[in-house]
Amino acid sequence: MTSDYLIWGYAALLGACIGSFLNVCVYRWPEALSVVSPPSRCGSCGTQIRWFDNVPVLGWIFLRGRCRACGARVSIQYPLIELLVASLWLAAVLRHGVSWQALSTALFFTILLGIALTDARTYIIPDEFSLGGLALGLALSFAPGGITPQQSALGALLGFGVLWLVAELGERAFRKQAMGGGDIKMLAMIGAFVGMPGVLLTLFLGALLGTLIFGPISMRTNKLVPFGIFLALGAAIVEPWGSAIVEWYLSTFVGV
Ligand SMILES: [Zn+2]
Repeated sequence: MTSDYLIWGYAALLGACIGSFLNVCVYRWPEALSVVSPPSRCGSCGTQIRWFDNVPVLGWIFLRGRCRACGARVSIQYPLIELLVASLWLAAVLRHGVSWQALSTALFFTILLGIALTDARTYIIPDEFSLGGLALGLALSFAPGGITPQQSALGALLGFGVLWLVAELGERAFRKQAMGGGDIKMLAMIGAFVGMPGVLLTLFLGALLGTLIFGPISMRTNKLVPFGIFLALGAAIVEPWGSAIVEWYLSTFVGV
């Protein structure tokens, strides 16, 4: 029992550190900046943040959300993302134990969160998340548990193909770009993690949620739909519950 707590603690701690790194990626990748150098600096005065002030969550609390050098406010988004990723990694280990499956689930949710954040802020889905995640998903399908490499590859192909087709047809019908290339690569990544029925269900849920949630907003403000956010939401539902949803649908409406 004690060792369980220790493992859960390690999972949350690792998640918090990954969350800290995710904060850097979310700000730098859309601007094509390196996430390795320069080291983190204060957005106001440019002072390099020292390692002990950069400890996830605690650094922010200890400094009461201000820069040590100039006192400028540091967004609460940083510790919140760190806490959120810590709970995602903890949840993955609670669900799957210490396993490849837990690692795959935790990475998948971290990538989805990263994409939702960059898409919300900049309408950009960095290739590091989509193509990098695609490579991770394909590689992790070779680990025991979860979907097979074949299911993963087919899921990625289907995700790419179906959204590419939507983009092509949309462009011909409306004579303007209907779907960003980032969304297409993102759905390929999702397919690599959830496989074939899962990727279609994700697209369906993403379109449904996007219409329900963003439809009313976009009618008033004429803003573009950050579709990546809704694909991320759809995938976050499908990853744990996708097969249950498909089974329920088949038994209720098809009678299988
Ligand atoms: Zn400062």
